[in-house]
Amino acid sequence: MKIGVLALQGAVSEHMDMLKRVGVESYPVRKAEEIEKVDGLVMPGGESTTMGRLIQAFQLEGVIKKRFEEGMPIYGTCAGMILLSNRIEGFDQFKFGFIDLKIIRNAFGRQVDSKEIDLNVKGFDTPFHAIFIRAPVGKDPGKNVEVLAEVPEGIVFAREKNVLVSAFHPELGNDLRVHSYFVDMVKKFLK
Ligand code: GLN
Repeated sequence: MKIGVLALQGAVSEHMDMLKRVGVESYPVRKAEEIEKVDGLVMPGGESTTMGRLIQAFQLEGVIKKRFEEGMPIYGTCAGMILLSNRIEGFDQFKFGFIDLKIIRNAFGRQVDSKEIDLNVKGFDTPFHAIFIRAPVGKDPGKNVEVLAEVPEGIVFAREKNVLVSAFHPELGNDLRVHSYFVDMVKKFLK
């Protein structure tokens, strides 16, 4: 199994470290040929407007869309979650639209830089210590969206078919369960 971490901007090596700890090889990917060869793709956090522009400038939109349509699992954290959604409130910016979810950017208030929450996650038997950095939330999920965790501000962890999104950054903590969840999605894709 080979997982690619989109390496245009943001927390790339942190995701690679977590995947290594789960026992999976990962590669930074920047080119269409590289995205063709992976079995799963992580879109890290960063700044979603900038990352969207880079995706367009590097002409990666087509190949990512094609791999999505083939069923390849994609996991977006924070800015990655924003880019995978189909609606972004108040911002006209690039997005893939792979998950039917409305995004509110910087949903915890512009002054609130970061926040840590012990999150109850569907399917996890103990809370997940989640780190949020200028994080978005999701609202108004489509009927095929499975909500995996929610806070009063909105949805922070969700899945629709082969797309997984989190508003928080599991790659900055020590808990491997979110990355394991994604690796299980990739295992099922390869079966
Ligand atoms: N606030 C950023 C955005 O809206 C996301 C922050 C992050 O990825 N940590 O794009």
